[in-house]
Amino acid sequence: MEELKVNALMIRATDYGENDRILTLLTAEAGKLTAGIKGVRKAGAKLKFAAQPFCFAEYVLVKRGERYTVIQASECESFFELRCDVNKLYAASSVCEAACALSFEGDDCSRIFYAAVRALSAMCGGDESMELIKFLLVALKSAGYGIGVENCTECGRPLTAEQRLRFDMDTGSFTCWECGDGAGTGGATYNTLRAAEGKSHVGECTAESEKRALRLLREYIAYKTDARCAGLSEYIRLI
Ligand SMILES: [Zn+2]
Repeated sequence: MEELKVNALMIRATDYGENDRILTLLTAEAGKLTAGIKGVRKAGAKLKFAAQPFCFAEYVLVKRGERYTVIQASECESFFELRCDVNKLYAASSVCEAACALSFEGDDCSRIFYAAVRALSAMCGGDESMELIKFLLVALKSAGYGIGVENCTECGRPLTAEQRLRFDMDTGSFTCWECGDGAGTGGATYNTLRAAEGKSHVGECTAESEKRALRLLREYIAYKTDARCAGLSEYIRLI
C-alpha cells in the first residue's frame, strides 16, 4: 500500500455513499488528484474540516489500485474570514472552481496551487475582486490560455483606457475596434486587466471596471474549457 503526503487545497467535494465524500485536491507535489474520504458527513467526524471548501492542509493519502483515500490531514490554514462574508465566500469559491477547470490531472499544478493559496490568503484581509482577477490571469496562463494585455495584436498600436476595443476569444488578446472582429469591450476592462498584471495603467480601477473584467474572464474561461463557473456568475451578480 503506497502512502503519499501532499500539501493540498480542497477545490471540489462530491457526496458519496452514506457518509463519504470524493474530494478533488490541487496539490503542490502531485498535480490535481481525486481522493475518497470516509465518514466525514457524520457529526463530529475527526476529518470533517478536510472535506470543507478551500481547506488548505497536509493530506496523507493511501493508494489502493488506482484509488486514493485520505487517511489523515493536518490543517495549514482555514481562511476563516472567507466564511464570514458572503462576497468573499463566493470569490473564494470562484478561485476553487477556476482552479479545477484550469488544471489537468497528470500535469504539474504547483504554480496554480501557490497562486490559489496566495489569492485566498490575500482575500481574507483585502479587496477580493482584484485578487480574484489576478488569480484568474495566472490560472489561465498556467493552463496555456494566457491573456495578452499589450498593443493591438493586428496593427501593433498601443491601446488606451478610453478606447472602444475588441477581445478575441481565440487568441485571448485585445485589438482596436476597427482592427479585429472579436466581441466589443471597453478600454476600462483592458486597463483593469493591465493593473491586475502589475503593468502600467491609468488611474484607479473602479468596482464597475473590475466587474466587467470578471465578466470577460468568465466568458473566456467558458469559451476555452466549457466550465460553467456558477460560483463566479453568482459573485458577479453580488458585487
Ligand atoms: Zn489595431
